[in-house]
Amino acid sequence: MILNLNENVTKNDADNLIKRLQFMGFQAIALQTGQGFSIILVKGVDQKTDMKLFSVLPGVLEIKVIDSQFKLAGKNAILDKTIVDVRGLKIGGKELTIIAGPCAVESEAQIFESARLVAKGGAQVLRGGAFKPRTSPYDFQGLGEEGLRYLHEAGHAYNLLTISEVMAIQQIDCVAKYTDILQIGARNMQNFDLLKAVGQIKKPVLLKRGSAATYKDLLMAAEYILSAGNSEVILCERGIRAFEAYTRNTLDIAAVPALKELGHLPIIVDPSHGTGKRSLILPMARAAVAAGADGVMIEVHPDPDRALSDAAQTINPEVFSDIVVSLQAVAQIIH
Ligand code: PEP
Ligand code: MN
Repeated sequence: MILNLNENVTKNDADNLIKRLQFMGFQAIALQTGQGFSIILVKGVDQKTDMKLFSVLPGVLEIKVIDSQFKLAGKNAILDKTIVDVRGLKIGGKELTIIAGPCAVESEAQIFESARLVAKGGAQVLRGGAFKPRTSPYDFQGLGEEGLRYLHEAGHAYNLLTISEVMAIQQIDCVAKYTDILQIGARNMQNFDLLKAVGQIKKPVLLKRGSAATYKDLLMAAEYILSAGNSEVILCERGIRAFEAYTRNTLDIAAVPALKELGHLPIIVDPSHGTGKRSLILPMARAAVAAGADGVMIEVHPDPDRALSDAAQTINPEVFSDIVVSLQAVAQIIH
């Protein structure tokens, strides 16, 4: 249910309405639209609910029913296209978003050199894991807070925004202190407590699709973050587990137009984890942009063969620069 409010309703009035609705047993979120404020009731409404309950509330102009099961992540009359503004970078806007950097922050020198080279190649966001979800406990686990500090400093030095993964609730404050975007990895896509916790902070979240998650699962995971109050969610397709063993995962390009049909959130494609193979990054990144992705996330290392994690899918900065040129050309054709 959507309650569109009168134009003269202030943020304060909308917040008071939310409190009143809560008191009546509903859970609701206020959103600012071009026309003023709207309230989306996310919990408590069913077939038996009497509409008159809402029409008599102060400031309510009109009431609309939402048919989608994704009340906040789904497309509807007021949620049509979301642009996440990260310190001026408009993810989901006209320009492609290019996120690049190593799988993991390995040292101060490595992340500074990565930052210098990806900035030169056209990235706007520097990636680098500091808390790494590794399949084996004996593999490099990341540098933790020290790595985040290097990432932050390298981003600052080369005028790049930064993103890094948060694996646990206890890490949120630390990751948020050093980065502009928090990443929820594929393995944590359905860690509902973590989703609720990042829903409570004021930082954009890039939510990666779980390797066995359907579009519904992904949108419902986004719904957890949105309903907790954080409207800055970016989805990321990073490949799913299928029967093909040649590639690390099966990159589901159809996810891009499908999620755009079902929802309104920006979509980034990660061809690195999506294929596991450096030779496939260029064609799959092009395919992603051609399918309407808002950007890509690519693993780049100054010396890919020596990367401490995901070397096989990591490309060098020269190849990265060429890919960005190619992606801009594809974007020009399709827009
Ligand atoms: C990553 O991007 O660093 C990562 C671990 O990816 P995923 O969660 O998609 O496996
Ligand atoms: Mn990786």
